[in-house]
Amino acid sequence: MLAVVPPPVTVRVPAKVNLHLSVDDLREDGYHELVTVFQALSLTDEVTVAVTEEPGIEVYGEGEGSVPTGPENLAWRAVEALAAHVGRSGEPKVRVVLRKGIPVAGGMAGGSADAAATLVGLASLWNLDVTRDELAEIAAGLGSDVPFAIYGGTALGTGRGEQLVPVLSRHTFHWVLAFAAEGLSTPKVFGELDRLRAAGNPPRIGSHTPVVEALASGDPRQLALLLGNDLQAAAVSLRPDLRRTLRAGVNAGALAGTVSGSGPTCAFLCEDAQSAVEVAAELSGAGVCRTVRVAHGPVPGARVVGGDDAN
Ligand code: ATP
Repeated sequence: MLAVVPPPVTVRVPAKVNLHLSVDDLREDGYHELVTVFQALSLTDEVTVAVTEEPGIEVYGEGEGSVPTGPENLAWRAVEALAAHVGRSGEPKVRVVLRKGIPVAGGMAGGSADAAATLVGLASLWNLDVTRDELAEIAAGLGSDVPFAIYGGTALGTGRGEQLVPVLSRHTFHWVLAFAAEGLSTPKVFGELDRLRAAGNPPRIGSHTPVVEALASGDPRQLALLLGNDLQAAAVSLRPDLRRTLRAGVNAGALAGTVSGSGPTCAFLCEDAQSAVEVAAELSGAGVCRTVRVAHGPVPGARVVGGDDAN
Protein backbone atom coordinates (compact mmCIF):
# COMPACT_ATOMS: atom_id res chain seq x y z
CA MET A 1 0.00 0.00 0.00
CA LEU A 2 1.30 3.49 -0.85
CA ALA A 3 1.80 5.89 2.07
CA VAL A 4 -0.17 9.13 1.70
CA VAL A 5 2.24 12.08 1.58
CA PRO A 6 0.69 15.25 3.02
CA PRO A 7 0.88 18.38 0.83
CA PRO A 8 3.54 21.01 1.70
CA VAL A 9 2.54 23.69 4.22
CA THR A 10 3.51 27.37 3.84
CA VAL A 11 3.62 29.74 6.81
CA ARG A 12 3.96 33.53 6.75
CA VAL A 13 5.80 35.03 9.70
CA PRO A 14 6.46 38.66 10.72
CA ALA A 15 9.61 40.60 11.54
CA LYS A 16 9.68 42.54 14.81
CA VAL A 17 10.63 46.04 15.75
CA ASN A 18 11.43 47.00 19.34
CA LEU A 19 9.51 50.12 20.36
CA HIS A 20 11.30 50.03 23.71
CA LEU A 21 14.39 47.99 24.58
CA SER A 22 16.08 48.50 27.92
CA VAL A 23 19.11 46.39 28.65
CA ASP A 24 20.32 45.69 32.17
CA ASP A 25 24.00 45.27 33.09
CA LEU A 26 25.82 42.10 32.09
CA ARG A 27 25.10 39.29 34.58
CA GLU A 28 27.73 36.85 35.82
CA ASP A 29 26.27 34.13 33.60
CA GLY A 30 27.03 36.28 30.54
CA TYR A 31 23.46 37.38 29.83
CA HIS A 32 21.62 40.68 30.01
CA GLU A 33 18.12 41.01 31.42
CA LEU A 34 15.88 42.91 29.00
CA VAL A 35 12.61 44.76 29.14
CA THR A 36 11.24 45.22 25.67
CA VAL A 37 8.04 46.12 23.85
CA PHE A 38 7.91 44.34 20.50
CA GLN A 39 5.61 44.95 17.59
CA ALA A 40 5.16 42.44 14.74
CA LEU A 41 5.32 44.06 11.30
CA SER A 42 3.93 43.26 7.85
CA LEU A 43 7.49 42.65 6.63
CA THR A 44 7.56 38.84 6.44
CA ASP A 45 9.38 35.64 5.55
CA GLU A 46 7.53 32.68 4.02
CA VAL A 47 8.53 29.22 5.11
CA THR A 48 7.39 26.05 3.32
CA VAL A 49 7.82 22.65 4.96
CA ALA A 50 7.39 19.43 2.99
CA VAL A 51 7.90 15.71 3.50
CA THR A 52 10.87 14.57 1.42
CA GLU A 53 13.48 11.88 0.89
CA GLU A 54 16.12 14.67 0.70
CA PRO A 55 16.03 16.55 4.01
CA GLY A 56 17.55 20.02 4.23
CA ILE A 57 17.12 23.76 3.85
CA GLU A 58 16.87 26.03 0.80
CA VAL A 59 17.06 29.82 1.10
CA TYR A 60 15.86 32.46 -1.39
CA GLY A 61 15.48 36.24 -1.23
CA GLU A 62 16.94 38.79 1.23
CA GLY A 63 20.52 37.86 2.16
CA GLU A 64 20.21 34.34 0.72
CA GLY A 65 23.99 34.01 0.38
CA SER A 66 24.65 34.69 4.05
CA VAL A 67 22.13 32.31 5.59
CA PRO A 68 23.51 28.90 6.59
CA THR A 69 21.76 25.88 5.03
CA GLY A 70 23.17 23.31 7.46
CA PRO A 71 22.10 22.18 10.93
CA GLU A 72 23.04 25.59 12.39
CA ASN A 73 20.11 27.24 10.59
CA LEU A 74 17.60 28.14 13.29
CA ALA A 75 14.79 26.68 11.16
CA TRP A 76 16.55 23.30 11.13
CA ARG A 77 17.05 23.48 14.88
CA ALA A 78 13.26 24.01 15.10
CA VAL A 79 12.69 20.84 13.02
CA GLU A 80 14.91 18.86 15.38
CA ALA A 81 13.37 20.36 18.53
CA LEU A 82 9.80 19.56 17.46
CA ALA A 83 10.77 16.05 16.30
CA ALA A 84 12.39 15.40 19.70
CA HIS A 85 9.37 16.86 21.52
CA VAL A 86 6.97 14.43 19.82
CA GLY A 87 9.40 11.49 20.01
CA ARG A 88 10.17 11.10 16.29
CA SER A 89 13.53 9.33 15.98
CA GLY A 90 16.07 9.47 13.13
CA GLU A 91 16.73 12.39 10.81
CA PRO A 92 13.43 14.19 10.15
CA LYS A 93 12.40 13.69 6.49
CA VAL A 94 11.61 17.34 5.99
CA ARG A 95 12.60 19.95 3.42
CA VAL A 96 12.37 23.58 4.57
CA VAL A 97 12.27 26.37 1.98
CA LEU A 98 12.85 29.90 3.34
CA ARG A 99 11.72 32.85 1.21
CA LYS A 100 13.24 35.78 3.04
CA GLY A 101 11.88 39.31 3.07
CA ILE A 102 13.36 40.10 6.51
CA PRO A 103 16.95 41.39 6.36
CA VAL A 104 19.57 38.93 7.64
CA ALA A 105 21.39 40.04 10.81
CA GLY A 106 19.23 43.17 10.65
CA GLY A 107 17.93 43.38 14.23
CA MET A 108 14.47 42.27 13.08
CA ALA A 109 14.67 38.66 14.33
CA GLY A 110 14.53 37.03 10.89
CA GLY A 111 16.15 33.76 11.96
CA SER A 112 13.84 33.57 14.98
CA ALA A 113 10.86 34.19 12.69
CA ASP A 114 11.93 31.28 10.47
CA ALA A 115 12.20 28.98 13.50
CA ALA A 116 8.72 30.01 14.69
CA ALA A 117 7.25 29.48 11.21
CA THR A 118 8.89 26.07 10.97
CA LEU A 119 7.31 24.98 14.28
CA VAL A 120 3.85 26.14 13.17
CA GLY A 121 4.26 24.62 9.68
CA LEU A 122 5.47 21.24 10.94
CA ALA A 123 2.70 21.03 13.54
CA SER A 124 0.29 21.25 10.60
CA LEU A 125 2.31 19.01 8.22
CA TRP A 126 2.63 16.27 10.86
CA ASN A 127 -0.96 16.82 12.00
CA LEU A 128 0.14 17.28 15.63
CA ASP A 129 -2.24 18.07 18.42
CA VAL A 130 -0.17 20.91 19.94
CA THR A 131 -1.36 24.33 21.03
CA ARG A 132 0.30 27.62 20.18
CA ASP A 133 1.36 27.87 23.87
CA GLU A 134 3.14 24.48 23.65
CA LEU A 135 4.89 25.59 20.46
CA ALA A 136 5.93 28.80 22.23
CA GLU A 137 7.53 26.74 25.01
CA ILE A 138 9.58 24.79 22.49
CA ALA A 139 10.31 28.11 20.77
CA ALA A 140 11.80 29.57 23.97
CA GLY A 141 14.44 26.82 23.93
CA LEU A 142 15.55 27.93 20.45
CA GLY A 143 16.04 31.64 21.13
CA SER A 144 14.61 34.53 23.09
CA ASP A 145 12.82 36.16 20.10
CA VAL A 146 11.21 32.94 18.80
CA PRO A 147 8.11 32.87 21.08
CA PHE A 148 7.15 36.41 20.05
CA ALA A 149 7.18 35.40 16.36
CA ILE A 150 4.70 32.62 17.22
CA TYR A 151 2.20 35.06 18.77
CA GLY A 152 2.89 38.35 16.93
CA GLY A 153 0.83 41.42 17.79
CA THR A 154 2.39 43.75 20.35
CA ALA A 155 3.90 42.35 23.54
CA LEU A 156 5.98 43.18 26.57
CA GLY A 157 8.95 40.84 26.85
CA THR A 158 11.05 40.34 29.99
CA GLY A 159 13.80 37.95 31.09
CA ARG A 160 15.84 37.63 27.90
CA GLY A 161 12.77 38.81 25.97
CA GLU A 162 11.08 35.41 25.95
CA GLN A 163 8.58 35.96 28.82
CA LEU A 164 5.69 37.62 27.03
CA VAL A 165 2.56 39.50 28.01
CA PRO A 166 0.29 40.90 25.26
CA VAL A 167 0.00 44.70 25.10
CA LEU A 168 -3.14 46.47 23.88
CA SER A 169 -2.38 48.44 20.71
CA ARG A 170 -5.32 50.48 19.49
CA HIS A 171 -4.10 51.63 16.14
CA THR A 172 -2.31 50.40 13.06
CA PHE A 173 1.09 52.09 13.10
CA HIS A 174 2.92 52.87 9.86
CA TRP A 175 6.63 52.30 9.52
CA VAL A 176 9.44 52.83 7.04
CA LEU A 177 12.41 50.48 7.34
CA ALA A 178 15.88 51.31 6.07
CA PHE A 179 18.01 48.20 5.44
CA ALA A 180 21.79 48.57 5.67
CA ALA A 181 24.29 47.17 3.18
CA GLU A 182 25.70 44.79 5.78
CA GLY A 183 24.29 43.09 8.88
CA LEU A 184 25.46 43.49 12.48
CA SER A 185 26.18 40.62 14.84
CA THR A 186 23.89 40.76 17.88
CA PRO A 187 26.56 39.51 20.37
CA LYS A 188 28.98 42.15 19.03
CA VAL A 189 26.46 44.93 19.68
CA PHE A 190 25.84 43.73 23.25
CA GLY A 191 29.63 43.58 23.73
CA GLU A 192 29.95 47.15 22.48
CA LEU A 193 27.26 48.28 24.95
CA ASP A 194 29.21 46.62 27.81
CA ARG A 195 32.36 48.38 26.61
CA LEU A 196 30.63 51.79 26.41
CA ARG A 197 29.18 51.26 29.90
CA ALA A 198 32.56 50.25 31.33
CA ALA A 199 34.12 53.37 29.80
CA GLY A 200 31.52 55.83 31.01
CA ASN A 201 27.84 56.06 31.62
CA PRO A 202 25.85 56.28 28.39
CA PRO A 203 22.29 57.46 29.13
CA ARG A 204 19.74 54.71 29.68
CA ILE A 205 16.16 54.79 28.49
CA GLY A 206 13.45 55.02 31.16
CA SER A 207 10.53 52.79 32.06
CA HIS A 208 8.38 50.99 29.46
CA THR A 209 5.12 52.19 31.04
CA PRO A 210 4.67 55.37 28.94
CA VAL A 211 5.15 53.31 25.73
CA VAL A 212 2.43 50.90 26.82
CA GLU A 213 0.13 53.87 27.54
CA ALA A 214 0.87 55.44 24.14
CA LEU A 215 0.04 52.14 22.41
CA ALA A 216 -3.29 52.02 24.22
CA SER A 217 -4.03 55.62 23.18
CA GLY A 218 -3.25 54.75 19.55
CA ASP A 219 -1.60 58.13 18.90
CA PRO A 220 1.52 57.76 16.74
CA ARG A 221 2.76 61.24 17.76
CA GLN A 222 2.71 60.26 21.43
CA LEU A 223 4.43 56.94 20.67
CA ALA A 224 7.06 58.66 18.52
CA LEU A 225 8.31 60.69 21.49
CA LEU A 226 8.86 57.52 23.51
CA LEU A 227 10.70 55.14 21.14
CA GLY A 228 13.90 54.10 22.90
CA ASN A 229 16.61 51.47 22.59
CA ASP A 230 19.62 51.02 24.89
CA LEU A 231 21.41 49.15 22.07
CA GLN A 232 21.19 52.13 19.72
CA ALA A 233 24.32 53.86 21.07
CA ALA A 234 26.27 50.62 20.66
CA ALA A 235 25.00 50.00 17.12
CA VAL A 236 25.82 53.61 16.15
CA SER A 237 29.25 53.30 17.75
CA LEU A 238 29.98 50.28 15.52
CA ARG A 239 28.31 51.87 12.47
CA PRO A 240 28.62 55.66 12.73
CA ASP A 241 26.81 55.99 9.35
CA LEU A 242 23.56 55.04 11.08
CA ARG A 243 23.45 58.56 12.53
CA ARG A 244 23.02 59.92 9.00
CA THR A 245 20.33 57.37 8.20
CA LEU A 246 18.37 58.23 11.36
CA ARG A 247 18.61 61.94 10.61
CA ALA A 248 17.57 61.46 6.97
CA GLY A 249 14.36 59.60 7.95
CA VAL A 250 13.26 62.40 10.25
CA ASN A 251 14.22 65.03 7.66
CA ALA A 252 12.07 63.11 5.16
CA GLY A 253 9.04 63.59 7.43
CA ALA A 254 9.00 60.61 9.81
CA LEU A 255 7.77 61.34 13.36
CA ALA A 256 10.80 59.54 14.85
CA GLY A 257 13.42 56.95 14.03
CA THR A 258 15.08 54.19 16.04
CA VAL A 259 17.59 51.43 15.46
CA SER A 260 15.62 48.16 15.47
CA GLY A 261 16.94 45.79 18.16
CA SER A 262 20.68 45.33 17.67
CA GLY A 263 20.49 47.02 14.24
CA PRO A 264 21.56 48.00 11.72
CA THR A 265 18.01 48.33 10.32
CA CYS A 266 16.50 51.73 11.16
CA ALA A 267 12.74 51.91 11.74
CA PHE A 268 10.86 55.17 11.23
CA LEU A 269 7.40 55.74 12.70
CA CYS A 270 5.16 57.80 10.41
CA GLU A 271 1.90 59.69 10.89
CA ASP A 272 -0.14 57.48 8.52
CA ALA A 273 0.10 55.20 5.48
CA GLN A 274 0.38 58.07 3.00
CA SER A 275 3.16 59.74 4.95
CA ALA A 276 5.04 56.40 5.14
CA VAL A 277 4.98 56.11 1.34
CA GLU A 278 6.31 59.68 1.01
CA VAL A 279 9.05 59.17 3.62
CA ALA A 280 10.07 55.91 1.90
CA ALA A 281 10.33 57.61 -1.48
CA GLU A 282 12.47 60.43 -0.13
CA LEU A 283 14.67 58.13 1.93
CA SER A 284 15.36 55.85 -1.07
CA GLY A 285 16.78 58.83 -2.91
CA ALA A 286 18.94 60.01 0.00
CA GLY A 287 21.69 57.41 -0.43
CA VAL A 288 21.80 56.53 3.28
CA CYS A 289 20.77 52.86 3.09
CA ARG A 290 20.63 49.84 0.75
CA THR A 291 16.86 49.35 0.51
CA VAL A 292 13.73 50.93 1.91
CA ARG A 293 10.48 49.12 2.80
CA VAL A 294 7.11 50.27 4.07
CA ALA A 295 5.36 48.14 6.71
CA HIS A 296 2.57 48.35 9.26
CA GLY A 297 1.94 46.77 12.61
CA PRO A 298 0.79 45.09 14.67
CA VAL A 299 0.14 41.94 12.60
CA PRO A 300 -0.45 38.36 13.81
CA GLY A 301 2.35 35.85 14.40
CA ALA A 302 3.28 32.82 12.29
CA ARG A 303 0.18 31.67 10.30
CA VAL A 304 -0.39 28.94 7.75
CA VAL A 305 -1.03 30.67 4.41
CA GLY A 306 -4.53 29.91 3.18
CA GLY A 307 -5.12 27.66 6.19
CA ASP A 308 -7.48 27.87 9.11
CA ASP A 309 -4.93 27.68 11.91
CA ALA A 310 -6.92 28.64 14.96
CA ASN A 311 -4.60 27.26 17.69
P1 ATP B 1 18.00 39.28 16.33
O1 ATP B 1 17.31 40.59 16.06
O2 ATP B 1 17.08 38.18 16.81
O3 ATP B 1 19.24 39.37 17.12
P2 ATP B 1 18.84 39.41 13.62
O4 ATP B 1 17.55 39.72 12.94
O5 ATP B 1 19.79 40.54 13.85
O6 ATP B 1 18.51 38.68 14.96
P3 ATP B 1 19.07 37.06 12.00
O7 ATP B 1 18.62 37.46 10.65
O8 ATP B 1 18.16 36.25 12.83
O9 ATP B 1 19.59 38.32 12.82
O10 ATP B 1 20.46 36.29 11.77
C1 ATP B 1 21.56 36.29 12.65
C2 ATP B 1 22.55 35.22 12.15
O11 ATP B 1 21.95 33.94 12.36
C3 ATP B 1 22.82 35.31 10.65
O12 ATP B 1 23.97 36.05 10.41
C4 ATP B 1 22.95 33.86 10.21
O13 ATP B 1 24.29 33.47 10.15
C5 ATP B 1 22.30 33.03 11.31
N1 ATP B 1 21.04 32.32 10.91
C6 ATP B 1 20.69 31.10 11.31
N2 ATP B 1 19.49 30.75 10.82
C7 ATP B 1 19.03 31.78 10.10
C8 ATP B 1 17.85 32.02 9.36
N3 ATP B 1 16.88 31.11 9.25
N4 ATP B 1 17.71 33.22 8.77
C9 ATP B 1 18.68 34.15 8.90
N5 ATP B 1 19.84 33.96 9.56
C10 ATP B 1 20.02 32.80 10.17
